[in-house]
Amino acid sequence: MMRDVIVIGGGISGLATAYNLMLRGIDVQLLERQVRTGGNAISERFDGFLMEHGPTTFNASVPQAVAQITALGLLDQAHDLGPEVKRRYLRDNGKLAGIPASLTGFFTSNYLSARARARILIEGLIPRYMGDEESIHAFASRRFGREFADKVMDPMAAGIFMGDSRELSVNGAFPKLAEMERALGSITRGVLRAKRGSEPGRHLYSWDDGIGAIPHVLAKQLGSRVHTGITVSGLSRAAQGFAVKTSKGTRNARAVVLAVQPHVAAQLLERIDPVGADATGSIQAPQVNVGFFGYRREQVAHPLDGLGFLSTRDDGRILSGSQFASTMYPRRAPDGFVAISAYAGGVRNPELAQMSGIDLMAQMHAELSEVLGIKGGPAVTRLRRWPLGLPQYTLGHMARQKLFAQTPRRVEGLYLTGNYTNGVSVANCIKSALDIAKNITESLMVSPDEKNSTKQAMR
Ligand SMILES: Cc1cc2nc3c(=O)[nH]c(=O)nc-3n(C[C@H](O)[C@H](O)[C@H](O)COP(=O)(O)OP(=O)(O)OC[C@H]3O[C@@H](n4cnc5c(N)ncnc54)[C@H](O)[C@@H]3O)c2cc1C
Repeated sequence: MMRDVIVIGGGISGLATAYNLMLRGIDVQLLERQVRTGGNAISERFDGFLMEHGPTTFNASVPQAVAQITALGLLDQAHDLGPEVKRRYLRDNGKLAGIPASLTGFFTSNYLSARARARILIEGLIPRYMGDEESIHAFASRRFGREFADKVMDPMAAGIFMGDSRELSVNGAFPKLAEMERALGSITRGVLRAKRGSEPGRHLYSWDDGIGAIPHVLAKQLGSRVHTGITVSGLSRAAQGFAVKTSKGTRNARAVVLAVQPHVAAQLLERIDPVGADATGSIQAPQVNVGFFGYRREQVAHPLDGLGFLSTRDDGRILSGSQFASTMYPRRAPDGFVAISAYAGGVRNPELAQMSGIDLMAQMHAELSEVLGIKGGPAVTRLRRWPLGLPQYTLGHMARQKLFAQTPRRVEGLYLTGNYTNGVSVANCIKSALDIAKNITESLMVSPDEKNSTKQAMR
């Protein structure tokens, strides 16, 4: 049977794409190789704790994605960050520095030297950059000074992307910062302006049962259109569209969306779109390890009054960051306990892929104990290893992004989406899905005659 569209991959990107195609009246089927949908958005409840194996927060800074979760009925049930989240912490030389979560926070704490703080104040006077794509580190050094780049932006790049600020593209990874410079000539002015506005970016949402609420609702809405436990192993052109080879036979569709990880996309594109295969295959995605620890409250000396901490490149230490999960949201730990997540690996520590799970958890616990004053061992632990964790938006990403968007021009009816295209966050994945669903619907509505005349006009 010929479908309008087959979506391959049932993470948030694939689910949101299929859902929006369904809303537009398109006959869509989604194929997911795992027995459950959600991709890396896995929320697991056990012994009264809730562990997020992947994403923990939905960032409300993308209006289209907020509109989508509102329409899904999820916004009403969302929790914003808890009232105890008062500070951001940075770990430098094995010590935590607490910085008030306000705009002036960096000036009232002495985490940065007086000279570095003075340098930040003149950011508005630094001329606009007129060159090409720039790394996060180069961008931050130029606008805010080297110390800010080393001690604030580098930990952020490691914490959010598990990446290296010297390799990541500011235009790809933090496009809003690059845009503020382009449009206003200053990040400080841009941030102040956003503060005076609706401040949409300040909300970080989650739900009682975690971020898994989003894929759960999307899959429920899609119902029998979702087929799990089916691995797609090949993709080829067929008479009127595509033949999708799966572990359970071949299926046909007029259009196909690849919503899989970039290395899987590269394999599936190899024969049908070598240019796309090269571009997706060139994306690095280092290992990410997520350790989950539950402690009795009295074991932890630290007030845990923040989101968690990010780390500078501390000698010999492995944690790039940690989240105080039970401070951020309710129902993360039973009464009398706290839940803490720890993150390690990425570009900074690729060698951790070879470390045993037991050693890794022991080192994570030791580092948490060092900075949070934890006495004794954890009450519960869990480890999740993502072998190809997060795609890196390294320099050159803007050119790759163009190639991804141009896929349907090279192979009509074929579309790429996922966290390696237009932003890694859950919110950006949803926005990309909305855009792709719109493009596909418009293309499917055009008759073959109209397509031919458009092609001729373009020649
Ligand atoms: C540890 C971690 C923490 C994160 N924290 C946050 C956060 O706090 N906030 C935030 O916004 N974002 C966060 N992110 C990023 C965000 O979670 C991801 O970018 C997003 O969930 C990716 O969704 P996706 O659908 O694009 O990809 P995936 O979730 O990777 O989904 C791809 C799907 O394709 C399926 N698939 C693969 N191959 C095949 C095949 N051959 N046939 C059929 N199906 C196939 C896979 O099984 C998978 O389900 C985090 C990510 C990680 C790893």
